[in-house]
Amino acid sequence: MAKIQMKTPLVEMDGDEMTRILWQMIKDQLILPFVDLKTIYFDLGLPERERTKDKVTLEAAEAAKKYGVSVKCATITPNRDRVKEYNLSEMWKSPNGTIRDKLDGTVFRTPIMLDCIRPAVRNWKKPITIARHAYGDIYKASEFRVPEEGSAELVFKNAKGEELYRKTIYDFECPGVIQGSYNKDLSIRSFAHACFRYALSTKQDLWFSTKDTISKQYDQTFKLIFQDIFETTYKADFEKAGITYFYTLIDDAAARLTRSEGGFIWALKNYDGDVMSDMVSSAFGSLAMMTSVLVSPNGQFEYEAAHGTVTRHYYKYLRGEETSTNPMATIFAWTGAFRKRAELDELPDLARFADVLEQACLKTLRSGIMTKDLVSLVEPGFKATAVNTETFMAEITKNIQT
Ligand code: NAP
Ligand code: MG
Repeated sequence: MAKIQMKTPLVEMDGDEMTRILWQMIKDQLILPFVDLKTIYFDLGLPERERTKDKVTLEAAEAAKKYGVSVKCATITPNRDRVKEYNLSEMWKSPNGTIRDKLDGTVFRTPIMLDCIRPAVRNWKKPITIARHAYGDIYKASEFRVPEEGSAELVFKNAKGEELYRKTIYDFECPGVIQGSYNKDLSIRSFAHACFRYALSTKQDLWFSTKDTISKQYDQTFKLIFQDIFETTYKADFEKAGITYFYTLIDDAAARLTRSEGGFIWALKNYDGDVMSDMVSSAFGSLAMMTSVLVSPNGQFEYEAAHGTVTRHYYKYLRGEETSTNPMATIFAWTGAFRKRAELDELPDLARFADVLEQACLKTLRSGIMTKDLVSLVEPGFKATAVNTETFMAEITKNIQT
């Protein structure tokens, strides 16, 4: 059978540990036999980042910007232990952070759903996608402990040194704490554009929520920027696509979300997104079933799994022991990238292949053949067998061909 052809190459970013092993297996068994694969390859594995003094990450990020669609394997974010383990000359920055900064992107996380693994919230029938604004707020705040009685003020001086605002935060009668956080219109605008674009590209409603009734300047700014960009740029396209934009207070959104059927995107500020994405993803089941895509305001897409490099399994693998590592989210990163490339380059065969591969994965799981992480999550009465990584991959390969 002739292999499926591509036009523009994907930007491929290889990674570390167990996911690097999966990466090679996925390419060898599930992709290369069927697709005449065109990629621009970057090795973001930690040894290569060390060898190039992290230049390889910058080059990959640059290529992601230039070519528009990338697929990334999980990578180690070095900490002190990793510096020792890999004998690093520096504690290199998180590659995801570097790529996100370059693309000015927003991360969208979506669970892969299955009938035999029902979410903890019983009425959720469709996936809920969380979009987190990964910039500013408490993550870039200045804060300190107030040691004694005294007064704290908030002051703003413009570039000429003129004082425009001064406001008492609190007159402390005892020790306490203060914090100053910020965000930028530019970053909020990018976030809003990425959300509206992603809603259009996936034809799903978009929710956005903050606490603007309490935070009358800070959160209100987010609300107004979203509203303005929606009205001026996306309203007509949303109507055409039959989708809606919906703003509500975050506590109201949390209540509505739990009662909903799912099937929409929920955009959130940085901290809210951090908390809610872990809550929503654990309610849907397993981290190994969570896909992730970074979308830039200019329409660049980078697909990956939400989980890390699965270190514990990698050490087992190195000792020659059996592993049962779930490749679903990593496979869906590839199919997501293929589908987007197919849409941009008008390649229906490539889009069809992405569907076939996803269906082969889902068919394998529906037949009860699963990796260990999923077996404990299935509905009572559903017969599931835990298999090792190799057997699971082989079963998917079989299901592609039938
Ligand atoms: P992790 O790799 O996501 O793994 C945490 C645990 O979750 C695993 O030990 C495993 O549990 C389970 N798990 C995750 N993915 C799985 C899969 N595909 N199949 C089966 N089980 C899975 O997180 P981590 O251990 O905190 O981090 C490991 C490394 O990954 C770190 O160096 C971190 O910097 C990096 N990381 C990278 C990214 C990224 O590149 N996007 C994201 C997060 C973390 P059991 O061991 O109980 O089976
Ligand atoms: Mg978190």
